[in-house]
Amino acid sequence: MMADQAVTNEVDSSKPARKCAWCGVDISARHPNARHCSPAHREAYAASRRWNRQRTFNGPFAGRACVVCGEVFECRDDRQIYCARGGSCSQRAYRESPKGAAYFRRQDVKHRRREAARRHAETEHGKASQKERDARPKNVARRRAWALSEHGREVKVENQRRRAADRAMALLLMPVHKLEEN
Ligand SMILES: [Zn+2]
Ligand SMILES: [Zn+2]
Repeated sequence: MMADQAVTNEVDSSKPARKCAWCGVDISARHPNARHCSPAHREAYAASRRWNRQRTFNGPFAGRACVVCGEVFECRDDRQIYCARGGSCSQRAYRESPKGAAYFRRQDVKHRRREAARRHAETEHGKASQKERDARPKNVARRRAWALSEHGREVKVENQRRRAADRAMALLLMPVHKLEEN
């Protein structure tokens, strides 16, 4: 078996066919590092890459407003329509598009995102960002409003009752613990 697998430039049918990056013609029979069928196509491919890179790094095109948040940003590619912001505006646009909304409604996606959020909340980073969110004035005000609402008061009374019951229970159990210690 091994003797058959001599290293040659012959077509190895076990490997996927390699194709010219420019015209797509089969080049499996060319040398192993070949990416194009001919020098002409290597040059054509390189020229198109140069053109694409220039298009991308030509900028900045100043003074364009993000289509989501409206913030004016400098884009480096004239196809860019969202400000950068770690991708949050483009993500929001996707979430609100019909395709994105359908994706986020899927049960498996919902489940996966909930699990990921739960895992993240247990990490140091997750705890820190929760603390940061809790401290935002809007959220502080919301918690205060809730505590003053009818439901909030009910929950508070219920919690006090439960704590009192726990304390009473602890007092009842204490003599037993004392006896065991002696
Ligand atoms: Zn070619
Ligand atoms: Zn934006």
